[in-house]
Amino acid sequence: MLSGPTRPSIGTTFPPLRDDVVDAAVIGGGVIGLATAWRLAQRDLRVAVIDPSPGSGASFVAGGMLGGVAETGFAEADAASTHVVARDSWDPFLAELSATIGRPLPYAAPGTVMVGFDRSDAQAIDHLVTFQRNLGLPGRPVDRGELDVLVPGLGRSVRSGYFLDRDAAVDNRAVVVALIEAATTLGVCGVSENCTSITATRSGLTVTTTEGQLHASSVVVATGAAPLPALPDATSAPAIYPVGGVILRLEPLRDVQTPAVVVRSVVRGRPLYLVPRPDGSLVLGATAVERGFDVAVHVSDLHQLLDDGRMLLPFLDECGVLDVMTGLRPTTPDHRPIVGATTTPGLYLALGHYRNGFLLAPATAEHLASLVASHGAGR
Ligand SMILES: Cc1cc2nc3c(=O)[nH]c(=O)nc-3n(C[C@H](O)[C@H](O)[C@H](O)COP(=O)(O)OP(=O)(O)OC[C@H]3O[C@@H](n4cnc5c(N)ncnc54)[C@H](O)[C@@H]3O)c2cc1C
Repeated sequence: MLSGPTRPSIGTTFPPLRDDVVDAAVIGGGVIGLATAWRLAQRDLRVAVIDPSPGSGASFVAGGMLGGVAETGFAEADAASTHVVARDSWDPFLAELSATIGRPLPYAAPGTVMVGFDRSDAQAIDHLVTFQRNLGLPGRPVDRGELDVLVPGLGRSVRSGYFLDRDAAVDNRAVVVALIEAATTLGVCGVSENCTSITATRSGLTVTTTEGQLHASSVVVATGAAPLPALPDATSAPAIYPVGGVILRLEPLRDVQTPAVVVRSVVRGRPLYLVPRPDGSLVLGATAVERGFDVAVHVSDLHQLLDDGRMLLPFLDECGVLDVMTGLRPTTPDHRPIVGATTTPGLYLALGHYRNGFLLAPATAEHLASLVASHGAGR
């Protein structure tokens, strides 16, 4: 499947909402909105997810890496402990999700290797690991012998690297499906429409969609990188903009051993990653381009990914291409998420998770659910 502007489908959705009053409405069913809806429903709230196509946004395209250490770059020193705590919250989160849906939801990859392609790339990785080590986030050095076991097929130019044993990855699409199922078991329903506005009334909030209205004590806006619905006058709209990212999903190779861990790299100065999926397919990503809402895949995107990918991992030449997609990372000017209450009582934002929506989803959902519950939605 080659997909550009058409909307993908995760293949499952919520049962339709039969009422026009709920305790909490979640606008947007990406990983952030879905995890929040599940946590809200666990607090005995009647919850609706408003989204024409849950799971079709950035959450469909993401690598699913939980980069507790790897995502702590030079500009993110203050987020280091948040990243590590968020990553570690995935163990109980996945266990609880698996138990709720009644089937195992394993990590897609159990750890991460960081390697530089050439000498200057390797120096860049060394520099980053030294910085992370100074923050108390150690990567374990690995030599070429160990790399050959962890990353079979790695190009000969790589001599050494680092192993981050807790920076795992999840299968993003499997997690989204599981969250819809888990929330559905607790009675969460869906409205398959776009939300156009949210207004404050004396008794709560009114959510207007393309086809109708519903009333909620609390509303969580989790619309990813999309333009926000109109918010109540008292609430200033935050600046959110899309940063596009193209990924390729590649077919498993018969008779060729491929990496079982995430491979993060710098190739001639450009970041690149490869994430294995439980079905054996490999996700190669990702570009970072600011072209507004243009999700067309440009030749330059493909050229960059393929050129860098096959230099680092020559076996990629033999792989079939399963799909090529662009996702829009929801981004804020300082690259920090906007999560919490607004000046309008009952209205909450869960926006701007940029490169780390999966990493941060359990933490964001838990935080919002306790805020909403303390506001007294439904009571
Ligand atoms: C190429 C790429 C790779 C990435 N890799 C990783 C990674 O490895 N690890 C990681 O942690 N993060 C990664 N990310 C980031 C991650 O995907 C995002 O941060 C995360 O998916 C954001 O989730 P979300 O729920 O906020 O938004 P989305 O998943 O975009 O969901 C938003 C939802 O809101 C709905 N919506 C929008 N407007 C409206 C409206 N008006 N009314 C109703 N519904 C609406 C949409 O239909 C959509 O379903 C990656 C992103 C990209 C693009």
